[in-house]
Amino acid sequence: MNACAYIGLGANLGEARETVLAALAALQTTKGIAHCEHASLYASDPVEATGPVFVNTVARVETTLAPICLLDALQAIELQHGRARPYRNAPRTLDLDLLWYDGINLSTPRLILPHPRMHLRAFVLRPLKELAPDLQLQQGSLDSLLSACSEQKIWPLQDKATPTP
Ligand code: ADP
Ligand code: MG
Repeated sequence: MNACAYIGLGANLGEARETVLAALAALQTTKGIAHCEHASLYASDPVEATGPVFVNTVARVETTLAPICLLDALQAIELQHGRARPYRNAPRTLDLDLLWYDGINLSTPRLILPHPRMHLRAFVLRPLKELAPDLQLQQGSLDSLLSACSEQKIWPLQDKATPTP
């Protein structure tokens, strides 16, 4: 049976928008991912990080892959786009995070579910809300969590001139 998972995508080096679109295309053709749809693309200022503005979105997939196999697939796509990890929170050509997988809780050295910082990040919560407005995290509703990080600047990618909280 298929599981439902949400994946956070972000990039802030090189042609960030094109990289995110290429990663979405790669997800669609990944063996074991049956269906993939995504929210709008957003731009966001780096959070706990340095470098240029990020391009972010969230994808929802239906998958037959187990959580760790889905993480393997995400990391393979990151590597295809030249992802390196020189230091924590370094600028990145592509970051794919497994945010949520069928609501399961998991804590292993390689994979923590739900993603341990997703509830703190407007660049995850805002696109996630487009796909799953009623999703409840342990920390609260998406609206209440978004209110708590309203100081983080995020805006629709097409409208860079008007950042909104
Ligand atoms: P971050 O995305 O937090 O900036 P990285 O992408 O460099 O950091 O990931 C660091 C490590 O986090 C990865 O090697 C991965 O094994 C681990 N990790 C733990 N839980 C998750 C998750 N839910 N999604 C993606 N990576 C995770
Ligand atoms: Mg990551």
